[in-house]
Amino acid sequence: SYFEELGLAEPILRALNSKGYTEPTPIQRKSIPSLLEGRDLLGIAQTGTGKTAAFSLPSLHRLAASGNRRNPAGCRMLVLSPTRELAAQIAENMREYARYLDLSVHCVFGGVPVGKQAKKLVPGCDILVATPGRLLDLIDQRALTLRHVEIFVLDEADQMMDLGFIKPLTRIAGMLPQQRQSLFFSATMPKAIADLGKRFINNPVRVEI
Ligand code: AMP
Repeated sequence: SYFEELGLAEPILRALNSKGYTEPTPIQRKSIPSLLEGRDLLGIAQTGTGKTAAFSLPSLHRLAASGNRRNPAGCRMLVLSPTRELAAQIAENMREYARYLDLSVHCVFGGVPVGKQAKKLVPGCDILVATPGRLLDLIDQRALTLRHVEIFVLDEADQMMDLGFIKPLTRIAGMLPQQRQSLFFSATMPKAIADLGKRFINNPVRVEI
């Protein structure tokens, strides 16, 4: 299949097989090769296009290839999502894509007690999906550090702006290591969003669906 041709690791191909994916969606076709090379990405795409797999599959491949490097209270991949529903959905999908890999996926969002989430982060994880407010709460409680992030995904940037997450996002961006891969997705790309994107991504491949 196309996914095999891309050279995705065998455990990922097996997960795709059990999901019944045979062909990539257009956004997957356009973004996976560059993401596997470690490029930054600016994606203009809506939910429902297969965007989650487009950013998850190459990221899982790269994390698995570079071995187990979990750090206490750290995460290697951070996915920011504007709402708890979207965050939970992304985490669920990523767990399915990672089911045959030794990579842990955690999800944190507001509206539920912070203590239990903090406890789960103690040993560190590979992939953390989070809403911005709760992420900052956990950092301020010293339950989480962003020092080890290798891959950063900002999803639904336009919704993030609408929900007033500019300030938290700017704070979060300041805590990320300079050396990282960044992916920035938005359904629309007005100037304000493009300007926000410039703060996170570096010489990106641009994909529009
Ligand atoms: P997303 O835009 O990531 O929320 O994906 C929308 C839906 O398409 C989800 O239910 C995915 O499971 C599904 N999907 C993603 N990629 C593929 C694919 N290559 N083949 C079939 N279904 C897919």
